[in-house]
Amino acid sequence: MQIFDVIIVGAGIAGLNTALNIPKDKKVLVLCKENSWDCNTFYAQGGISVAIDENDIDSHIKDTLSAGAGLCDEEAVRVLCSEGRSAVKSLIDLGFEFDKDTDGNLLYTKEAAHGKNRILHAGGDATGRVMHLFLMQNNPHPLMYKTTVINILKKDDTIYGVRVFHKGKYKNLYCKNLVLASGGIGSLYEFHTNSRTISADIQGLGIECGCELRDMEMTQFHPTVFVNTDKARKQLLSESLRGEGAYVVNEKNERFLFDYDKRGELSPRDIVSRAIFDYKQKNEGETVYLSFENFEKEFFKKRFPTIYYNLKDLGFNLPEDRVPISPAFHYFMGGIKCDIDTRVEGFKNLFVVGEVANTRVHGANRLASNSLLEGLVFSIRAAKTILKNSYDFSHIEFEEDDEPLFKINDKIYKNELRKLMWNNVGIIRTQEKLQFALDRVNELLFKDIGKLLRLRLKTSQEIIKSAIKRKKSLGAHYIKE
Ligand SMILES: Cc1cc2nc3c(=O)[nH]c(=O)nc-3n(C[C@H](O)[C@H](O)[C@H](O)COP(=O)(O)OP(=O)(O)OC[C@H]3O[C@@H](n4cnc5c(N)ncnc54)[C@H](O)[C@@H]3O)c2cc1C
Repeated sequence: MQIFDVIIVGAGIAGLNTALNIPKDKKVLVLCKENSWDCNTFYAQGGISVAIDENDIDSHIKDTLSAGAGLCDEEAVRVLCSEGRSAVKSLIDLGFEFDKDTDGNLLYTKEAAHGKNRILHAGGDATGRVMHLFLMQNNPHPLMYKTTVINILKKDDTIYGVRVFHKGKYKNLYCKNLVLASGGIGSLYEFHTNSRTISADIQGLGIECGCELRDMEMTQFHPTVFVNTDKARKQLLSESLRGEGAYVVNEKNERFLFDYDKRGELSPRDIVSRAIFDYKQKNEGETVYLSFENFEKEFFKKRFPTIYYNLKDLGFNLPEDRVPISPAFHYFMGGIKCDIDTRVEGFKNLFVVGEVANTRVHGANRLASNSLLEGLVFSIRAAKTILKNSYDFSHIEFEEDDEPLFKINDKIYKNELRKLMWNNVGIIRTQEKLQFALDRVNELLFKDIGKLLRLRLKTSQEIIKSAIKRKKSLGAHYIKE
């Protein structure tokens, strides 16, 4: 019987950087669904925020707290912004290359609601892809892919491992410490930018295990997404496009965002999302576009190659063509509550890192490009905490539990759930719509459904209940009174 020192669920930035920070002589296993690149980290475009120098730390903290609308934990934000510099430096020291100018200086760009240019990027607009490859190449531990965690093996306050579904078979994998780094909840929404593996099942398991989930109503919508495709994952048009001069315009090419906020295109993303949503509603569904007329073609191709080629495949010639846009679900600020060292309260050996965690670094609204930084900083903390974690461990075996993962009508209910969440738990909420969504989710939970759908429904239920409880708008949670 193999007992791992650490099992890490998830191979995005949070999981892989935790693995990288645990020495090779420990028995560590990283798990992920599908292929390793099927994660949100891989799709991150804009970059990673980091204080430019020691003097910029306070200003990065101020911008993060201001975006978080009073719901941030100040200590967590201080950790993020002050430890961010050394976390990024440790990647650079390992050989990671951010984009530089011809003199070899790091290039920093600007994104909405940052007071300064403090976003580092790599491969132009392929920061996530370049970083994911780098972390995969440097991961010293084995990775088991096409492996879905379907249960957490727990007794009282101790975790003993996970039950997985791998290549058509169920099995228990045992460990002394468990790290959940399984990302957000994108697939709960009809329109989203997330990887197909991000389906909120681990949050559902967290609920069933008795973990506390917090700030579940805080769902962030990205304002500039090309949604007119059949693919579940919609094409994001990065925040840094607006940071570097792209305009949001109506059919007459007028910039209307200034009617909503004096910062126009550089307003925080929830304000821009609501403005576009509201403008479309008030103007009978008029198309809203992202216009790139300020960009030189050669510069655009070099600076935003991923967007250039992805949109070319979809029939757009950038920067000449403008692209129709809509807001879409993008990022989850809520999650499994943990302390500053990533520990989940009530358990001896359970840790959460990255988008699945709720450290309150983002509060009610995430500042652009702070999430890759969160993944880096808190994974280093998780690794340190685990290496120091000592408790009396004695292994126990768990029964085989083969509750069906899927049932025949799941797909129909899953699609209904995605529409229900988009239409009723979206950008502009009302108590009536939220109650309608909750009633239907409660009904769906009584249908004959598979376990994975039940977990999604449980997570949705928590999101809606939290949204109902928060009667006044705050940050990304906007509710009409
Ligand atoms: C299109 C896009 C662009 C973005 N751009 C930026 C940006 O420029 N800057 C920035 O800071 N942030 C950006 N973000 C957000 C950022 O990418 C994510 O918040 C971050 O990468 C999350 O990292 P993670 O390691 O927590 O999760 P992920 O990278 O999403 O990884 C989750 C992992 O968990 C695994 N997993 C999930 N459930 C299970 C299960 N049941 N069993 C086994 N494995 C499981 C998945 O297979 C995957 O390996 C962007 C997000 C998107 C979608």
